[in-house]
Amino acid sequence: MAAREPKKHEMPVQPPEIRAHNFDEVALGYNEELALAEAQRCLGCKNKPCMQGCPVNIDIPEFISHIKNNDIEGAYKVISESSSLPAVCGRVCPQELQCEHNCTLGTKMNLEPVGIGRLERYAADYHRVHKNGSTERPAPNGHKVAVIGSGPSGLACAGDLAKKGFAVTVFEALHSAGGVLVYGIPEFRLPKSIVADEVRTLGELGVEIITNVIVGRTITIDELFEQGYEAVFIGTGAGLPNFMNIPGESLCGVYSANEFLTRSNLMKSYLDNAATPIKKGGNVVVVGGGNVAMDAARTALRLGAEHVYIVYRRSFDELPARKEEVEHAKEEGIDFRILCNPVEIVGYHSENDPRDPKNGFVKGVRCIKMELGEPDERGRRRPVEILGSEFEIEADTVIIAIGTSPNPLIKDTTNGLEVNKRGGIVITEEGLTSRENVYAGGDAVTGAATVISAMGAGKTAAKAIYKALCGE
Ligand code: FAD
Ligand code: SF4
Repeated sequence: MAAREPKKHEMPVQPPEIRAHNFDEVALGYNEELALAEAQRCLGCKNKPCMQGCPVNIDIPEFISHIKNNDIEGAYKVISESSSLPAVCGRVCPQELQCEHNCTLGTKMNLEPVGIGRLERYAADYHRVHKNGSTERPAPNGHKVAVIGSGPSGLACAGDLAKKGFAVTVFEALHSAGGVLVYGIPEFRLPKSIVADEVRTLGELGVEIITNVIVGRTITIDELFEQGYEAVFIGTGAGLPNFMNIPGESLCGVYSANEFLTRSNLMKSYLDNAATPIKKGGNVVVVGGGNVAMDAARTALRLGAEHVYIVYRRSFDELPARKEEVEHAKEEGIDFRILCNPVEIVGYHSENDPRDPKNGFVKGVRCIKMELGEPDERGRRRPVEILGSEFEIEADTVIIAIGTSPNPLIKDTTNGLEVNKRGGIVITEEGLTSRENVYAGGDAVTGAATVISAMGAGKTAAKAIYKALCGE
C-alpha cells in the first residue's frame, strides 16, 4: 500500500488580518487539485468506520471514491442520498467529533484523518455551480402536511416529504427561511446564498414556505388540523437564550448572543443604512465557549471592536466549539480568557450627574478565576472558583453565549403535548410526540445541538409521516 500523506491538505483561507474586517467567507474551499489529492488519502476501508460516525450515514468511502475518479457529480449523488444540506454540513459539521474522529488514518495509523468535511463541501459546491436545470416536481400523493420552523430539521422534513408527493407548507416565524442557518451562523462561515439555494430547491419541489407566522400566536396546531393538514412536524429549534443570573445583566450594552447575531446576520445591522441598530467598537466580552460564542466574538470584531475577549470557565481542552473556528478566532486576535467566569456585570453610574448619558451602560465585567475539579455527571471536569481571585475586564458590550432552550410557546398552546424538564418535546424513536399525527425533531427536542442531528431528525420524522399517512 502506498504511503499516505500524514496531514490533511490545507484549505485556502482569507488571511486573518484581512478577514477580520470583512464578512466574506473565511475558508475558500478546495480546488480540483487539492480535492483529488485529499481523496487519494482515503483507504476505502471495507468496514467503513467513518460512516458509522456520521449521524445520517453518508456512504463516505463511496463518495470519496467518486472524487478519486474525478466524478464529482457522482460523489454529490451519493452524499445527497443521505443528506439534504451537503453544502451546509460540509462547512459547519463538527467532523472532528464525528466521521473524521473514526477515520482509520487517525485511529490506526497515527495520521491526520481524511478531510471528509472539506471533500463533502467540494462536491456540494461543484454541484451548485454545475447543476443543469431545476428540480423535477414529483406527482402529488393527495396528502397535506404542515411543518413548523424552517431550520435544518424543518427543511429536511419538508424536502423528503415533497419528494414523495406530499403537499407541504412550512410556517416560519421570521421573515426569512433557514432558522439558525440564516439568523445565527454568520455569513463569513456560511454564505446566505447557499441557504437560499436550498430553500429555492424546496420551492421547485413544490414546498410552500409562509413566513411571518408564529404558530401558537398567529395559528395553533389544532387549527392547522382543522385546515386539513393531516400531520404536523414541529422543528421550532431552541431559540430562547439562557442567562447567568448575575447582577448587571439588564444593563445597556448586554446582549444575548442570539439577539446580537440576529441583528447582524438577519437584520444586516453592520450596513451603514440598516434599520436595526447594534453596538459597534470598544471592548467586547463574550461569555461562553461554543460555536455561538466564537461566532459572536468574530462578528463583534468585524463590526469594529477594538478588543474582543472570550471568557470561558473551563480550559481550552473542553471548549465545545468546532476546532477550526477556535483556530480561526485565535488567528484573528480574539483574546481567550479561559478558566475564568463572570460574577457581575458592572455598570456606569455618575454620582454627580444623574443625567450623564453613560449611566446605566456597561463599563466592565468582574470575573473570578477557576480551576478544574472532579468530573461532573458527563465526565467533564467541573470548574471550581479560586477564592479571592476576582479581577475586572473593561467592557462596553457584553454578549452572553451560554446556551439556549426550546421556547415554551408551542407547548403552552397545544393540549397534550408532553415536554421534558428542560422544555424539550418528548418523542418516540420515529419522532412521534404525545399528540396523534404530531411529530417533532431537532433542537426543539434535544435542546441546542447540531445541524446534522437536526437534519437527521427531520428525515426520520418524514419517513414516519409517510408510513402513517400512506401505510408504507
Ligand atoms: P433552528 O435552526 O433553530 O430553526 C427553528 C426555526 O423555527 C427558526 O427559523 C425559528 O424562527 C422557527 N420557529 C420557532 N418557533 C416558531 C413558531 N412558534 N412558529 C413558527 N416558526 C417558529 N451546529 C453545527 O452543527 N455546526 C455549527 O457550526 C453550528 N454553529 C452554530 C452557531 C450559532 C450562532 C447557533 C445559534 C447554532 C449553531 N449550531 C451549529 C447549532 C445548529 O445551528 C442547530 O442545532 C440547528 O440549526 C437546529 O436546527 P432546528 O431545525 O432544530 O432549529
Ligand atoms: Fe477513508 Fe478514513 Fe473512511 Fe477509511 S475511515 S474509508 S480512510 S475516510
